[in-house]
Amino acid sequence: MHPEASKKLEVRQAGEALSCTLQVAVQTPAHSALAGLLSYGAPAPLPPGTLVRVPLGTREVLGIVWDTPPPDAAAPAGTPELRPIAGVLADLAPLDAHWRALVAFAARYYQRGLGEVALAALPAQLRGLGPAQMARRLRRPGSPAPGVETTELIALSEEQESARAQIHSKTGPFLLFGSTGSGKTEVYLRCVQDLLHADPGAQALVMVPEINLTPQLQERFVARFGAGQVVALHSGMTNPQRLKSWLAAHSGQARIVLGTRMAVFASLPALGLIVVDEEHDASYKQQEGARYSARDLAVWRAHACGAKVVLGSATPSLESWHASRPPSADEPEGGRYQRLEMPSRIGAAGSGAAGSGAAGSGAAGSGAATLPRVRRVDMGQQPRRAVLSAPLVAEIAERVARGEQCLLLLNRRGYAPVLHCQDCDWKSDCPHCSAHQVFHKIDRSLRCHHCGYAARVPRACPACGSPDIAPMGRGTEQLEELLAELLQGTHRPDGGPVRIARIDADSTRAAGALQSQLAAVHAGEVDVLVGTQMIAKGHDFRRIGLVAAVQPDGALFSSDFRAPERLFALLMQAAGRAGRDAAWMAAQGRPCEMWVQTHHPTHPVYEALRRHDYAAFAADQLVERRQAAMPPFAFQALLRADARSQEVAQAFLAAAAQAAQRAGLPGTGHVQLYAPVPLVVQRVAGVERAQMLLESASRPALQHFLAAWQPLLHLLRAEPAHKGLVRWLVDVDPLAI
Ligand code: ADP
Ligand code: ZN
Ligand code: ZN
Repeated sequence: MHPEASKKLEVRQAGEALSCTLQVAVQTPAHSALAGLLSYGAPAPLPPGTLVRVPLGTREVLGIVWDTPPPDAAAPAGTPELRPIAGVLADLAPLDAHWRALVAFAARYYQRGLGEVALAALPAQLRGLGPAQMARRLRRPGSPAPGVETTELIALSEEQESARAQIHSKTGPFLLFGSTGSGKTEVYLRCVQDLLHADPGAQALVMVPEINLTPQLQERFVARFGAGQVVALHSGMTNPQRLKSWLAAHSGQARIVLGTRMAVFASLPALGLIVVDEEHDASYKQQEGARYSARDLAVWRAHACGAKVVLGSATPSLESWHASRPPSADEPEGGRYQRLEMPSRIGAAGSGAAGSGAAGSGAAGSGAATLPRVRRVDMGQQPRRAVLSAPLVAEIAERVARGEQCLLLLNRRGYAPVLHCQDCDWKSDCPHCSAHQVFHKIDRSLRCHHCGYAARVPRACPACGSPDIAPMGRGTEQLEELLAELLQGTHRPDGGPVRIARIDADSTRAAGALQSQLAAVHAGEVDVLVGTQMIAKGHDFRRIGLVAAVQPDGALFSSDFRAPERLFALLMQAAGRAGRDAAWMAAQGRPCEMWVQTHHPTHPVYEALRRHDYAAFAADQLVERRQAAMPPFAFQALLRADARSQEVAQAFLAAAAQAAQRAGLPGTGHVQLYAPVPLVVQRVAGVERAQMLLESASRPALQHFLAAWQPLLHLLRAEPAHKGLVRWLVDVDPLAI
């Protein structure tokens, strides 16, 4: 562009006057009271969004020229200490107003510094590049963007066509509520294609919850649109790869960006459509720094820049489900979102799939890609402490002998342990809340995470006196070995011994381990797959006849009110792994099944699962949530404190609550502050952690409160009384309480 401008500015030496004051967003030290906007001098104005190099302390850092605040808020002109900017990355187009608005909103809403959020949203490598290096980087020829050419299309089913037509003609936001295997991805592909055809410059952003799912999706998009159009953005890429993708999106050369939650901040000047697949997934919530929800930001971003947004799921979050409620007598408008339903699996009778690719031809009945039948094993009727029931073991053995694969799901992680009596079914309820007290191993206490009530762990069951009380959800660690023992006499159709594999966080630590393990399952080299959440999501296994949840009950009695919602989503996902190849399943001559081992066979979660009835489950949960005034009928935030001791952490939280009361913050009357409690995982690496819950029926009231509280918290932290505090943070719309 302007080779002169990209040279390092030597303003002082030239004796030139710093006639302009620029507001520049820089990454200030984490959690300083600075918002991250600093004033610098420059000889001439620069458009907002321009990337610059500026001095910060003794370093030189990347900054973004920001919009000038209104005159009364601006720093007085001619401040003596005003330092000059050090350089301009003039070859890069400025980040546009939509991008800046997104960043400013995210910083405000999630209570973080503007500079921190803005700089974290850029690829790391950009931070190290000077103007000259950037100019060189941009001179490298990119691959020319070919026109949109699409491969031959499969005909959409009636349900898919209807969803696509509505996305085309209405404004949204849309919630695409489609069963597993209903062809949601095909709808995304078609909507992207409609957009790219209608507008030759438009861009689309497609988000998935996990890195593991991006290669699969990327393959489908590349097959449809060609490699030149599609780039990926996720944390599994190297810094140079990320910079390359980012630049392609920023320049408009890449038309489609596929990525994980971080991609919501990609610079996309011609953004026309955002897709959030598996929108209910907790991975969309960032758990450090600015704790943003990429799904919620996607909805905000689309609205602000006039793009469409499609949230897709077979088991939507209750927030999105509630937001998409249909019009009623009380509410003729209905919710803010437009709900689109695709209840049928592709190939099932009623889906109306007309394409040649649909599994609808062939032998009679082979097209019925139906969801598995759900069977519950009442563990109350099994020997005490049995981990695997005899009928389940027999079923696995029989299916393996016939050449089928079985999937055993463990979900022991991520749930707060509740104490349970093995004899009379007593559970550690909180006497003050409709919640269970959580078992804290470290000081052998029981604590309610809602109201803070604490008690010592009893020696024996308070109800029946049995000494057999233990945290729920244990005993699955040795499952793989136990299974091998129980299936010793089982053989595959070829006479070989049964092959068992385990996929979880431990088994997949090495790079590429997960991919090779999944490949082994796809290749039929595994008969029984044991695993956690990881194996339930997205994978298109073809030979699975049986899915079993071994010990799912723990989640029913978790202190986390979202645990049943997560359990239901997980079990529905897992069920969706069975019988994906309808023709093969039909040839087996017996239906695919999902088994649930439970002490509570009639629990509403399992009743709804049996009927594959998400809507009934959601309706039930929403009644409970409304009664208990919990999200989506209330809005929450957490104040977290980490310290050398639990007392110091909790003292900070208590002082923060007092400070708010004394100052009479705006919104105080509408925001409820609860007592400080230790986190479920209370101590990490010698640091004690505590939190305090804030709740309000009004989102704006909570927002006003938090914004006014922030400066008080900075002051408080500086007081000598809180010297032992390691850090504090605010989590808005937390996912785990
Ligand atoms: P979901 O994302 O809803 O789980 P997918 O989009 O992955 O479902 O579709 C499931 C399977 O059905 C895939 O193998 C896909 O290629 C196939 N499929 C999707 N739509 C159609 C269609 N209209 N005709 C034939 N096959 C289809
Ligand atoms: Zn008991
Ligand atoms: Zn309580």
